[in-house]
Amino acid sequence: MRNLLRRGLLWLACGAAPVMAQTPYAGPLFDAHLHYNDDACVQDAPDPACPHPLTDVLARMQRNGVRAVLANSRPNAGTLALAGAREATHAAGVTVVPFVRLYRDRADYSSWFRDESIVELVTTELARGTPAGPYQGLGEFHLYDSANANGPVARRLMALAEEKQLAVLAHVDDVAIDLLMAHTAGKGDLPPGRPKADQPPGGAATREAAERGGFRLIWAHTGIGGASVERVDALMARYPLLMGELSYRPGLTCGDGQLCPEWHSLLLKYPERFLIGSDTWVNQRWLYYDELMQSYRHWLGGLPASVARRIAWDNAATLFGVAHGNGRP
Ligand SMILES: [Zn+2]
Repeated sequence: MRNLLRRGLLWLACGAAPVMAQTPYAGPLFDAHLHYNDDACVQDAPDPACPHPLTDVLARMQRNGVRAVLANSRPNAGTLALAGAREATHAAGVTVVPFVRLYRDRADYSSWFRDESIVELVTTELARGTPAGPYQGLGEFHLYDSANANGPVARRLMALAEEKQLAVLAHVDDVAIDLLMAHTAGKGDLPPGRPKADQPPGGAATREAAERGGFRLIWAHTGIGGASVERVDALMARYPLLMGELSYRPGLTCGDGQLCPEWHSLLLKYPERFLIGSDTWVNQRWLYYDELMQSYRHWLGGLPASVARRIAWDNAATLFGVAHGNGRP
């Protein structure tokens, strides 16, 4: 407070109008890129050898106002543990939206796209479902070389996602977005004859996909290799069902932790197409979970309130049919 006062006085002394401090976004968060991998030590009891048991990760979500998570893990046991902890997740006010991951271990990251057994893993998991309900998507998967988006397993899984109306969380480059979209019957396009303006912004992923003959592709990191804002803009315009998750996105924020001007403009242009996520791919991300969420709240606070709320919560909540705020204020 004293600092704020001093800063305000400084402004007055300089003859300029005082600038109001940015108020961080204070509403609910939907963590749309969460992993509960085995190295976090998936179990429900604290243990010295277990850095992030369920009680720990749920406490981190709860104290940060994270009310829902898109959960996936290597192997899928972590997602099943979260989905199965019905009482604990309810008590923490967290809704778990489960995704099937394509990985049993780290080796699968770079070979899944040519490994037919991954299709079997996915179909078995989909048939089994989770204690929190059916899986709602596939991923996160990685394609470090976009050409592998044309591999047989990637083609089959994209067709499966479209057929079963599942969303997909993909860590890929901009070239692979085009390739993956091309593997679906809908080609990522809206059905002919239906003007874009008529499209509702949300709806459960399944219902939307059924209506539109396509699937929701969530672009993890929205181009971690630094695809230009112009290129991201062009892909968003080309594929109405493409959504961008913003963790690790290079160039997103500038020195003050606020959105850089070109990203501020892009998020205002597509307020219904972006999501935030933690990407807890290593335990260090769990350690800094508070700071990650605070940094999101910081730049969300620089957006108009309605846009901040969409990106923080509404877009993902609408996509997966999660009740707003889980019935809480
Ligand atoms: Zn990830």
